[in-house]
Amino acid sequence: GDASARRPIRELPDELISQIAAGEVVERPASVVRELVDNALDAGATQVTVRLSAGGVRLISVEDDGHGIPRDELSVALRRHATSKIASLGDLETVGTMGFRGEALAAVNSIAELTLHSRARGADAAYALDGRTGELRQVARSVGSTVEVRELFYATPARRKFLKTDATELAHCVEAVRRHALARPDVGFAVWHEGKLVEQWRATAARDPRLADALSDDFVARSVSVEHLLGAVRVEGRAGIPDAARARGDQQFFYVNGRFVRDKVLNHAVRSAYEDVLHGQRQPVYALYLTIDPARVDVNVHPTKIEVRFRDGREVHQAVRQAVEKALAAPRAGEAETPAA
Ligand code: ADP
Ligand code: MG
Repeated sequence: GDASARRPIRELPDELISQIAAGEVVERPASVVRELVDNALDAGATQVTVRLSAGGVRLISVEDDGHGIPRDELSVALRRHATSKIASLGDLETVGTMGFRGEALAAVNSIAELTLHSRARGADAAYALDGRTGELRQVARSVGSTVEVRELFYATPARRKFLKTDATELAHCVEAVRRHALARPDVGFAVWHEGKLVEQWRATAARDPRLADALSDDFVARSVSVEHLLGAVRVEGRAGIPDAARARGDQQFFYVNGRFVRDKVLNHAVRSAYEDVLHGQRQPVYALYLTIDPARVDVNVHPTKIEVRFRDGREVHQAVRQAVEKALAAPRAGEAETPAA
């Protein structure tokens, strides 16, 4: 038809709104994994098990032992903009959970076959809700939830065509879980693919053992401890020694209040801390954790929340740069001027 011919303005049907919104949040199976693990952690899970088939395209199942969802809230959880995590604009300023937009389950439900199994703490039965039909049936399970997502993008073949091989999609899914694992050593994680255990990181009390487990022993051995406080910005974690730098920037992890982020300010700050010790194109390795007053960082910038905006970017930049410079300048264990008694 004539592309310029005016058509009447209409409100889009609910399902289409969800499908459009899903485009922003769900790029590939790993995006679903990220959202579901976010939810598991928000529910206070101590163990998260991810099961995948065909790189996550056939099946993504995320099981947790969190507080669960009561029977009569199961269908609400699948509605757009339905959340238990914020109730007011003020809450948004101080949000401490990974989620708060109430979009993920609705989005995923609109582009895949979703089933939500849950048993709420204190409830005497568990239920499974079929996202398509709305059918609710009683099932047997312990307290916690399992979200099963099958046939991702079945309704949007164009999206499905952009997916890479199963092996590549699986690698992205594992990476999504790893990012969570690096922030939450106190939680156990397991990833299965086609019935085989791919990765398993057991809960541990401290960060370094988790870094060793989920990255490598080498990552910890060839990095220095970072610990710095500037104003209200705390920076902790580990920064690789210059020799540990790699061709690819695939071991660069930044967390802001427990959330994995990508941020130009943070990248630049680290880059400048390495300026004098790292030459050429090699990329430093690091896992850095910023703690900052939630009111000073806006996490509601991007639907995937991978981008944040700092109220005072200069202070954050300075804090990170100082933190890493100080850590790199400190004598390393074994090189100490006065050996420990
Ligand atoms: P958000 O996480 O932004 O609130 P979601 O669409 O991801 O939005 O989830 C909607 C709601 O469903 C959550 O606010 C939470 O109350 C509930 N929910 C989702 N997943 C879980 C889970 N694994 N355990 C307990 N509750 C969950
Ligand atoms: Mg969520």
